[in-house]
Amino acid sequence: MQKSYILPFPITYAMAATILDGKALAREIRDNLRKQVKSLTEKPGLAVITVGNDPASQLYVGGKEKAGIGAGYHFVWKKYKEDTDEITLLSEIDKLNQDKKIHGMIVQLPLPKHLSPFLIIDAIRQEKDADGFHPLNLANLFLGRDAILPATPKGIMRILEHYNIPLAGKHAVVIGRSNIVGKPIAFLLLQKDATVTMCHSMTADLAALTRQADIIVAAVGKAWLVKKDMVKQGAVVIDVGMNKKGDKIIGDVAYDEVKEVASAITPVPGGVGPMTIAMLLENTLKCMEVQKKLSTR
Ligand code: NAD
Repeated sequence: MQKSYILPFPITYAMAATILDGKALAREIRDNLRKQVKSLTEKPGLAVITVGNDPASQLYVGGKEKAGIGAGYHFVWKKYKEDTDEITLLSEIDKLNQDKKIHGMIVQLPLPKHLSPFLIIDAIRQEKDADGFHPLNLANLFLGRDAILPATPKGIMRILEHYNIPLAGKHAVVIGRSNIVGKPIAFLLLQKDATVTMCHSMTADLAALTRQADIIVAAVGKAWLVKKDMVKQGAVVIDVGMNKKGDKIIGDVAYDEVKEVASAITPVPGGVGPMTIAMLLENTLKCMEVQKKLSTR
């Protein structure tokens, strides 16, 4: 007699998570920007101001410089000493605001404690604010108007769009409420009709909320905070975190275990980071176009 086997039910097949390859997408965007720039009579100009020698900032700006020059941009790096005062910085910003060869500028954050980032960022002309941190650009983002968007949230939205990840009606849980990532990405997701929950350091039961999420955006700065048991099967996980561990950079998400349950996930490095740089270059070109339009009015 033939033996019959009873199969365990339900049978669950672990599907491999899609790796959301920000590095490849960013390369494609930079290649397109290079072609666009080649066809222009004038190079887009990007200036970066750094204050002090924060090693992470030096590394990030180095990446921006390489990408900018690679895409054919005019790139200027203004380096100031740690003890630079506000007046000196404001006068540099004023010069860059007037400089016709500079279309976009950023002040690399964080700034030393004695400097007010609000005062410094407010001084950048709204049309030259390539980081999208100026209050008027953030107000336009909040209102859902055309705006120069902060580069990291813009890069996240571009990844989601590129991989056709549906957002309307989905529950997005954003961990982190910073002005540069958490708050703007929450509003951008909201504009795409996601239902958004914002979590932060005082959130009572983070795991209970992340477990309900269709999309998780982790922007905290705490290595491997998001574990497998905090993620619903099939969720999309975006890891913004960049944490130093020895000589490696690791994310806020425990990538190796979370990718077993996620349907899609960004790696660190190679996910959101390269997209931030590509979006900064895109923003600079947008700044240039806005300035051209304003000059013909
Ligand atoms: P931030 O320090 O300004 O904000 C961190 C946020 O995390 C805060 O809102 C805080 O309330 C929240 N938080 C802290 N501990 C928490 C906890 N245990 N549970 C829940 N929330 C908690 O940081 P940021 O500037 O938004 O950056 C966040 C991370 O993203 C950092 O690792 C940073 O290096 C990285 N980052 C990466 C890029 C990129 O291009 N990949 C860009 C910007 C920031």
